[in-house]
Amino acid sequence: MAKLVLRSGRELRLLAGHPWVYRSDVGRLDGAWAPAEAVSVCDAAGHVLGRGFYNPRPQIVCRLLTPHDEPVDRAFLRRRLLTAWAFRQALGYDGDAGRVVGSEGDALPGLVLDRYGDVLVLQALTLGIEQWARALAELALEIVGARAVYRRADAAAATVEGLAGDSGWLVGGVEGSPALEVDIREGPCRFRVALETGHKTGFYLDQRENREAVASHAAGREVLDAFCYTGAFGCWALRHGATHVLGVEASAEAAARARTHADAQDGGDRFDVVEANAFDALRELERTGRRFDLVILDPPSFTRRKTAVTAALRGYKEINLRALACLRPGGLLATFSCSHHVGPPLFEEVCRAAAGDARRPVRLRTAYGQAQDHPVLLTVPETRYLKGLLLEAVG
Ligand code: SAH
Repeated sequence: MAKLVLRSGRELRLLAGHPWVYRSDVGRLDGAWAPAEAVSVCDAAGHVLGRGFYNPRPQIVCRLLTPHDEPVDRAFLRRRLLTAWAFRQALGYDGDAGRVVGSEGDALPGLVLDRYGDVLVLQALTLGIEQWARALAELALEIVGARAVYRRADAAAATVEGLAGDSGWLVGGVEGSPALEVDIREGPCRFRVALETGHKTGFYLDQRENREAVASHAAGREVLDAFCYTGAFGCWALRHGATHVLGVEASAEAAARARTHADAQDGGDRFDVVEANAFDALRELERTGRRFDLVILDPPSFTRRKTAVTAALRGYKEINLRALACLRPGGLLATFSCSHHVGPPLFEEVCRAAAGDARRPVRLRTAYGQAQDHPVLLTVPETRYLKGLLLEAVG
């Protein structure tokens, strides 16, 4: 087995519980490595810090899979999957979709595994995990009890890690089948997920608990669901008694799917979907005096890089300012950010500035995080990316 020896002092991050080794941490690599074989990671004095897959190409050359000196093989991966699945089952979600493995959050860095009904979607984010993709798919089928595993390629990881695999069925499924869509149930709602073209692995599973929590305030309220994707928040709100929902979405495909989801529900005629830029739509709604009792703002990550945070903050402030202006007195704003570069304190500061500029005193009703099946590791801040606030316009 190859041994990755760190430079003196570079073991501290690992000892503090963060599993990443950067290229600049590495002193030398002893022995020959293969992408599928975990290397042993040692400090400069030779003490073993754990094992993980190595890839010289990205900045993060190794992510520890274990802090112990133990074999990383099929039996090891099976144990990790069993643990991850047991955790999901204990959550007891009502529905048949959710995250089964969340990379670092499940001590399986580089692996994302989502369940959509009887299909699993696997995403390999590192070269090492890609080597094991088929074995992981077989193990996952056995443990979770699904029908097929679809591999969803991730363009960013492919570039950074040098991954070759395309999207397609890994195990089960029908080769060349056009039916890359799966029906799922989430609480009282049903959605059709596009495995090939949908965002992330097809659906925003991380908002599951927040959809339920926000919808519990929807009864008798007129709702604006900005950045609505395929309309999941709006559908939940309608099921909880919203009088009307307006969904705004820039992507034509997502907006069309939101329309289909709305039509499939009782009261779907009270759900309007417009294909538009939400920044423009919010400005227009404010200008024309249209007002709402509940506004949901769930924008995409405005920044994936630290250097773009300032521009992202301007974007967050703008939409929150407009949304607050469109609230009736007593109205609620459920506002989210999924950029991990914008942490909870910074996000709160942006919302505070927006409330100040809008001259709208707001009460902080509650704070939201990501669904519990997307675990946050306290020692890995990057795993905590989704945050939200429920703000009530006091007057
Ligand atoms: N709330 C959704 C997820 C929203 S993700 C859910 O629960 O499923 C963010 C969405 O915003 C994506 O669908 C993306 O296509 C859309 N989007 C990105 N930029 C936009 C813009 N400027 N105006 C409107 N929609 C936008």
